[in-house]
Amino acid sequence: MENKRRPRTLITGGAGFLGSHLCDRFIAEGHDVIAMDNLITGSTDNIAHLSGHPNFRFILHDVSNYIFVDGPIDYILHFASPASPIDYLKIPIQTLKVGSLGTHNALGLAKSKNARMLIASTSEVYGDPLIHPQTEDYWGNVNPVGYRGCYDEAKRFAEAITMAYHRYHNVETRIIRIFNTYGPRMRLDDGRVLPAFIGQALRGEDLSVFGDGSQTRSFCYVSDLVDGIFKLLMSDESDPTNIGNPDEITILQFAEEVLKLTGSKSKIAYNPLPQDDPKVRQPDITKARRILGWEPKVNRSEGLKITLDYFKQKVH
Ligand code: UDP
Repeated sequence: MENKRRPRTLITGGAGFLGSHLCDRFIAEGHDVIAMDNLITGSTDNIAHLSGHPNFRFILHDVSNYIFVDGPIDYILHFASPASPIDYLKIPIQTLKVGSLGTHNALGLAKSKNARMLIASTSEVYGDPLIHPQTEDYWGNVNPVGYRGCYDEAKRFAEAITMAYHRYHNVETRIIRIFNTYGPRMRLDDGRVLPAFIGQALRGEDLSVFGDGSQTRSFCYVSDLVDGIFKLLMSDESDPTNIGNPDEITILQFAEEVLKLTGSKSKIAYNPLPQDDPKVRQPDITKARRILGWEPKVNRSEGLKITLDYFKQKVH
């Protein structure tokens, strides 16, 4: 009888917001999961519930340094990176290193193990976009020397080296472009708009709208994103694919939505707009719909309720 082994999957950034949800999903899919993280922005709190699970292992390691993993690996999901503007402004060099050296190391591992690798790219490759909504064939409008350049350019390099490994070394690669995503396990203090507004509303502080709040974003609930990642990984599409929720909203409308949802008496305070803050952002998901049969299922009011319950336990 054939001895069929379980698929073995490495998730870099496995203790982060998205990485930890991926650990859950891949374990549920019957994989052996190795989470790797240096905990610079991730937290073992996100994976504590998996501790002792027979199909789960955690390795404390910075993937910008050579990655060693014993035994076979079938899939690599490269999710290690600071991902909020506040984080990557604080640690710009680590951000550049994990997008470049970290991606190179993960690709080298994929090549040596004959594994399929998916990298987490992002809508930031489109910069402050001049095409709206953003389609995958748009090359973007990025300022390489601005404060966001460390993240945007790291992700653009990550895409370029991934395509090079695909074309030159025949590594099976997948590139997802992730748009703003939210849900439980986001860090309350990561500075991103959603935890910032919910935290402020729960504490009765003013909501810090940057600029006049007319800039837009489109928020995707984490379970939808994870589903899109799984489907893309299992597909044979090697070109970049947008995954996100196209339901676009201005930041000011979003602040009002959070006030209503929380029943908070907080006011709105207007703060200066950060440099190069994208004015609009909305994924065109025609391609994901066509090739993956994927589209988001959780609307913002449902997703926000679940996320609010999570943040309520975290706010003191
Ligand atoms: N933003 C805001 N107040 C905050 C944090 C963010 O108005 O306290 C705005 C920010 O200027 C941007 C949008 O919300 O236009 C989304 O910001 P976030 O940091 O969540 O991520 P981004 O989408 O810019 O990467």
